[in-house]
Amino acid sequence: MGGGTPVADGENGTQLRSRIAQRLDVPKDVRPTPSLVAALVEHYFDHPLRVIMKETSPHRDLAECVTDTFGRPLGSLRLSVTDRCNLRCNYCMPEPEYVWIPREDILSFEEMATLVGYFAELGVDKIRLTGGEPLLRRDLARLIRLLRQNRRITEVALTTNGVLLADHAQELYEAGLDRVTVSLDTLRPERFRQLTGRDEFSRVLEGIESVAKTGFSNLKLDTVAIRGFNEDELGALVEFAKHYRAEVRFIEYMDVGGANEWSLDKVLSQDMILETLSRRYGRAIPLPERGAAPAQRFRLPDGTIFGIIPSTTVPFCAHCDRSRVTADGMWYLCLYAPSGVDLRKPLRLGASSMEMREVIRSVWAARRDRGAEERKALERVGLRSGGLIHIDRLREDPHLEMHARGG
Ligand code: SAM
Ligand code: SF4
Ligand code: SF4
Repeated sequence: MGGGTPVADGENGTQLRSRIAQRLDVPKDVRPTPSLVAALVEHYFDHPLRVIMKETSPHRDLAECVTDTFGRPLGSLRLSVTDRCNLRCNYCMPEPEYVWIPREDILSFEEMATLVGYFAELGVDKIRLTGGEPLLRRDLARLIRLLRQNRRITEVALTTNGVLLADHAQELYEAGLDRVTVSLDTLRPERFRQLTGRDEFSRVLEGIESVAKTGFSNLKLDTVAIRGFNEDELGALVEFAKHYRAEVRFIEYMDVGGANEWSLDKVLSQDMILETLSRRYGRAIPLPERGAAPAQRFRLPDGTIFGIIPSTTVPFCAHCDRSRVTADGMWYLCLYAPSGVDLRKPLRLGASSMEMREVIRSVWAARRDRGAEERKALERVGLRSGGLIHIDRLREDPHLEMHARGG
């Protein structure tokens, strides 16, 4: 799919296939049937998913939402802006050394905004900037301004470890960032150092304070709840969040990517979290809505609201509308997906917007992922033990890591 004139919006499926076949050097006398083009696209994008090129009617509205094989819409997109990080949380980056995504492969902000534009035309309306540590990417506010120019994007949020937040909160707010989530697993400086390998607790606190001062109204604090590590701090974290008018969300520890220290007995389950908090506050009442949101929210008897993301014990795959794009433009349809779709290659080769949208649409339409549910099923038959990806594989492919996929 080399560069060329953009495809006219009214182009139909047959014309689109001919054009793709032409660009892929298919001889002129070979008819570009749907199955041939599907096979070529699959080969071209080098991923194991079955890509179905469906008929593209000239009248079809490409802005309509696309749904996958389970009827889940393409809704929110996590966009990693870097795979680098200034912390080394031992549930995410336990290794002494990492293979990084080559710098020349990292997408520019313009390329990211272009990709987001294609996703937005297919139903994505929420973007979450993540990493690695997203604030390590210079001038992140510029990306936010670019994304904000897209009228289909209703929300741009950020997940950060908070270390650099105080330096940037004001400019991020002015650029149009809607929401900030700070990951915070402990309130004890020594524990923080032990967990992250860095002595940055006080800077994270400054970051949280700066968010409150800047004017962001819906600060969230994400805490990975780990048995034997921070179960004695759940109440303190609820109180801390209250102080900053934030909402804390407890995330169950997941066996994703480089979480090689994961084991089932370290998972502080939703039930255990509720049990612990009820001893201090009384029974928490679940709030009705969850929808496509990963968190189940609860209200304590004193009115405080908090959330739990029970990805390990009560997976929400059935309603999952999220996917993620890594800093080098690999698109993963599931946090646990072993491989992704390379969007950078066609983007840099000059694929037209229609071709890009068609790839995204057809790949999502074929999506069957439900990684967390599959893990749960393994557990039921006693086959789930520790992190499932061998360290050598992680070294071969940095995309398998949580810090590349962005959580
Ligand atoms: N560096 C930023 C941060 O920590 O907020 C953004 C990227 S980080 C990969 C995104 C989220 O994934 C964080 O809230 C982190 O706690 C969470 N996370 C990483 N590894 C995890 C694991 N094994 N289980 C559960 N959550 C994890
Ligand atoms: Fe910790 Fe986030 Fe960095 Fe992972 S990417 S090591 S969770 S700060
Ligand atoms: Fe979605 Fe995959 Fe997570 Fe399930 S495991 S909720 S399908 S990202």
